[in-house]
Amino acid sequence: MKFGGSSLATAANIQHCASLVKKGASAVVVSAMGGTTDQLLELADSPKEDSLWKALQSNHEEAAKELGTDVSPLLDQLQHLLLGISAVGELTLRSKDLVLSFGERLSSKLFVAALAKEGLEARAMTGGEAGIVTDDRFGEATPLMNISLYQLKERLGSGTLPVITGFLGATQHGVTTTIGRGGSDYTATLVGAALEADEIWIWSDVDGLLSADPRIVPEASLLTEVSCAEAIEMGQFGAKSMHPRALEPAAEKGIPVRIRNTFHPEIEGTLIKPDTEEKGT
Ligand code: ASP
Ligand code: MG
Repeated sequence: MKFGGSSLATAANIQHCASLVKKGASAVVVSAMGGTTDQLLELADSPKEDSLWKALQSNHEEAAKELGTDVSPLLDQLQHLLLGISAVGELTLRSKDLVLSFGERLSSKLFVAALAKEGLEARAMTGGEAGIVTDDRFGEATPLMNISLYQLKERLGSGTLPVITGFLGATQHGVTTTIGRGGSDYTATLVGAALEADEIWIWSDVDGLLSADPRIVPEASLLTEVSCAEAIEMGQFGAKSMHPRALEPAAEKGIPVRIRNTFHPEIEGTLIKPDTEEKGT
């Protein structure tokens, strides 16, 4: 199960998503809390922008307090990093990725706390810790497929429920990378493929894929099933555009992907079925 940022915007939202994990999941992937990645990008560019910092800090501290955990060590680390960037007066792509990583590192910690309140024991892991190795094209890094799938399977196969940061990997030297905006969906299909999941569920804030854009065609209806090729052609997961490679790992392993709405969990959503002719090739 992967949860998008708009479903994780407040402590109450996070708690609700944690309750959905009870439907049964062998691994959880989380985006950053809604809006956080954009805030972090702005902070990386203007590390001294106090109002930006305050907004990000209070948002996470409030959520942590409500969920009964402490995120101040992570926030302290981030603050030091921003101080360093403003002291050097230079932002490399590599340091920008490190700044961005805090969004998902914070949300995974909050999610684990919410799961504990549901009586579920879980552990937070970064994409790198979970086993995702990428090249060093910071900002748009590409996972090295074989080693990542192998390591994910080794490290996640058994034990406590993992809550993995979406969007993040690490180079072979352990340096944090990001895999492109919207990359958490890609993380989810990588994890699902490695674990040979029955289905990969992408929880977002829309009921699924629609037959047309509802702003143009008001009678647009929810599609219950589409093929992988059709989904790629539509280029979107619900209302947001899809990471270009997001469906690849699922397609390669023939695993269906289901788009569901955290705000309407009673709706089955859209099932993206693997293209059978491509299976096993
Ligand atoms: N938080 C990242 C972004 O906003 C990754 C994701 O949400 O998939 O792009
Ligand atoms: Mg996001």
